[in-house]
Amino acid sequence: MASVASQTSRSGTDAQTARSADRAERSSAPDVVVVGAGFAGLYMLHKLRTLGFSARVIETADDVGGTWYWNRYPGARCDITTADYAYSFDPELESAWTWSEKYATQPEIMRYAQFVAERYDLKRDIDFGTRVDQARWDDAAGRWHIHTSGGETLTPRFYVMATGCLSAPKEPDIPGAGSFKGEVYSTNRWPHGGVDFSGKRVAVIGTGSSGIQCIPLIARQAAQLTVFQRTPNYSVPARNGAVAPARLQQLNADRAAYRQAAKLSRAGVPMPLNMVYGRYAPPELRTQLLNQGWESGELVAAISIFADQGLFEDANELVCDFVRDKIRAAVQDPATAEALCPKDHPFGTKRPCLDTGYYETYNRPNVRLVDLKRTPIEAITASGIDVGGESLLFDAIVYAMGFDAMTGALVAVDIAGRGGQTLKQKWADGPTSYLGLTTTGFPNFFTITGPQSPSVLSNMMVSIEQHVDWIGDCLAHMRQRGASVIEPTDTAESGWMQHCDDCAAITLHPRANSWYMGANVPGKHRGLLPYIGGVDAYRKACDEVAERGYLGFSFSGPGIAGGRSTEDGVVRRLQPDVRMVQEMMAALNLPTFDSLPPDAARGLLAQINSQRPPGLPVGEIRDGTLPGPAGALDYRLYRPDTPGPHPLAVYFHGGGWVLGSHDSDDPMLRDLCRRSGVLIVSVNYRHAPEVRFPAAADDALAAVRWAGEHARELGAIPGQLVVAGWSAGGNLAAVTCQRVRDEGGPRILGQLLLTPVTDCDMTTRSYVENADDYVLTAPLMRWFWDHYCDPADRADPRASPLRAKDLSKLPSAMVVTCEFDPLRDEGQTYAAALAKAGVPVQELRARGHTHLSPTMVDVVISGEPVRAQMAQALRGFFAPTQASRA
Ligand SMILES: Cc1cc2nc3c(=O)[nH]c(=O)nc-3n(C[C@H](O)[C@H](O)[C@H](O)COP(=O)(O)OP(=O)(O)OC[C@H]3O[C@@H](n4cnc5c(N)ncnc54)[C@H](O)[C@@H]3O)c2cc1C
Repeated sequence: MASVASQTSRSGTDAQTARSADRAERSSAPDVVVVGAGFAGLYMLHKLRTLGFSARVIETADDVGGTWYWNRYPGARCDITTADYAYSFDPELESAWTWSEKYATQPEIMRYAQFVAERYDLKRDIDFGTRVDQARWDDAAGRWHIHTSGGETLTPRFYVMATGCLSAPKEPDIPGAGSFKGEVYSTNRWPHGGVDFSGKRVAVIGTGSSGIQCIPLIARQAAQLTVFQRTPNYSVPARNGAVAPARLQQLNADRAAYRQAAKLSRAGVPMPLNMVYGRYAPPELRTQLLNQGWESGELVAAISIFADQGLFEDANELVCDFVRDKIRAAVQDPATAEALCPKDHPFGTKRPCLDTGYYETYNRPNVRLVDLKRTPIEAITASGIDVGGESLLFDAIVYAMGFDAMTGALVAVDIAGRGGQTLKQKWADGPTSYLGLTTTGFPNFFTITGPQSPSVLSNMMVSIEQHVDWIGDCLAHMRQRGASVIEPTDTAESGWMQHCDDCAAITLHPRANSWYMGANVPGKHRGLLPYIGGVDAYRKACDEVAERGYLGFSFSGPGIAGGRSTEDGVVRRLQPDVRMVQEMMAALNLPTFDSLPPDAARGLLAQINSQRPPGLPVGEIRDGTLPGPAGALDYRLYRPDTPGPHPLAVYFHGGGWVLGSHDSDDPMLRDLCRRSGVLIVSVNYRHAPEVRFPAAADDALAAVRWAGEHARELGAIPGQLVVAGWSAGGNLAAVTCQRVRDEGGPRILGQLLLTPVTDCDMTTRSYVENADDYVLTAPLMRWFWDHYCDPADRADPRASPLRAKDLSKLPSAMVVTCEFDPLRDEGQTYAAALAKAGVPVQELRARGHTHLSPTMVDVVISGEPVRAQMAQALRGFFAPTQASRA
């Protein structure tokens, strides 16, 4: 194989001599060794110097630039607008540099890296042409021993890997790859002098970002170009040109505010939050937004056309269909167009590409597409590629195979931490880290844009700067405290991993075989590598860790009392979407319900509810009335979209006996009806304080009796009845079960109690822990009780069903409790008491959820498993009866 080595900017011998001379002047025991002189390593060095730390940078390449040093293929450009893809740490640097295009080319970005290196005189501390091969932690000395390809051993206190997420090339895994006798190129190790393909027959293997960027340019030069495609990618036209005037104006109007907005954005680029749900948007609005996303020529815009496109397949499919139609319109040959249409992954779950004339390239007579899904490569031979029974002859093969992303460059170095365990061993089943910055067992070791940080799902300049600043601040903090060693705790790391998994689980990402998931490298562990909770959320977590005394870290050193101190804990325990809703609510600065008179509180609730997604349709929704003890009660019926008759659930809404209505729980009941196939009658009972205890309980009992008697008219199966309720409605459902047992009524087959009020005791641990953070606060609960029930009546089992003397012979129950709910403990105690009394009980403890969050359909996606299990339980209540009927 004629491999093309990268050309260097200095001749080999000169560079070697210069390097040796330089090194002689550098300490082998600096405070910090940084590996990599891409944008991360360069800024890290500058930051360390600014803070007064000594540092050395080791870099394999012969120059700065990292990604932009190695990836010199034709068409290589950034795909985040260069106005955003730039350092922001120094306003003077910003004003000293102007980008010539919306998306700068590789040479221009390289010039920028050079400009920065020279401006801050960085090269004097960088060892170019040198690899770090091995690193060992010396526990006794509290230092790293880092071995370089230059034969040197460096012994810094701190070791920072700035080795890049996309810097370890993925080697071709195709039979015969080594036997080709023609020219061989790899997009990520491109010759510095360029390549002339004129008159040549060229193969490009791979259609990721690099392939899509270089294919149109190679096609223009080569005599013939054959593209070998394993997986088609979605690509959006870049519409490159001058920097958009609107962007420039926004930036120049207030640069600091713009950069700050980037730091607090989802992806590191300021972008207004789009609140339109694709699944509910009217067709004209959908089309308008899809066209806007397409016309924008920006990835960040394309991945956020709809607020729900990353969450729901139906919303995502709108984008996929739109792009596929664009591909079909651009490519003349229908078979080629169809092969180019991605169908195996949701839009955005593999990195979408930006292109200039990519799809149109396939209309050229000299370009052919080979779809490897239909005809896999049989072998690469000395003269070409055997595929689909044909032997295709080539003069050159270009591999655009991508990278062993995120972890490749880290585990390529033999790094051993405490006790000799290597990073490769520790990460054999996938990388684990705390904040993507540190990992247990590897003291004084940091990774810039490491796995479990936003990294490749963000504008990396913003993420790089954030990591560098955080590391720099951490080292300064240690110096100030007299700490010499830092290491994350197991609790913090496993908590962060759980949080990352929670973030991934609410997206469509895990459904794709992408390099984000490690799926492009055979044998690599499968799991979402970057943090998908957003640049903004991530930054807040990192800042909070520091503000809370470096929560989740142990420090040791001469200045630490007792030699060691640990601030153990988990920084994010709420489900990510629950937290997001909390923050959005807090930003609205609404009055608390308990600060208002009941009518005003009801108005506020209705106003809040009017902003939420409506929920998906069911077979039928109709309103009616039923006779209550003191007049008619309104109800709303949800009929499944399946042939009836159906089993029946009578449901009572939440709202502390004061607020709420069948409207307030509407989206959740649509969801429950769709999932369970059960007909639901949601009853509006009388509210306090206008009518106090036991009116609501009496209404509930009357409603259940009525429903039992009118099952057939409702389209339900007689005798197939359960009750359900949320919060105060859960209280009414539980009370009704007891009263039907004691006072007579229809047979109830089950009770579904979602975060029910079961007792008037407000001193439980869950009340103390969750007193004032999560909408249902202790003061609000007190307000509810005060409106509903005199203190003297509260121990009555019709108010506090937990106080009933006998809990036996009650219907089977499912009790759902939420971790961050004041009512958690009383729900769990009720479940335990029911079980003790011989009632079959399923208990579901919703981790990371609050009192309200599981009900927030289409907003709190992490509540889906809870809602699914509730629906399953609802169905399950009827199962024995249905089986006996059969
Ligand atoms: C073609 C391409 C286009 C991209 N476009 C964008 C974009 O538009 N926007 C965006 O946000 N991101 C983009 N990226 C991601 C890009 O990698 C980052 O934006 C950024 O350049 C990463 O900088 P870094 O310093 O972290 O890593 P790198 O630039 O990868 O630098 C790491 C350096 O570490 C060196 N190194 C690695 N291991 C060792 C070792 N053991 N010893 C010594 N040296 C070592 C490498 O030689 C390399 O120079 C793109 C990536 C590619 C490949």
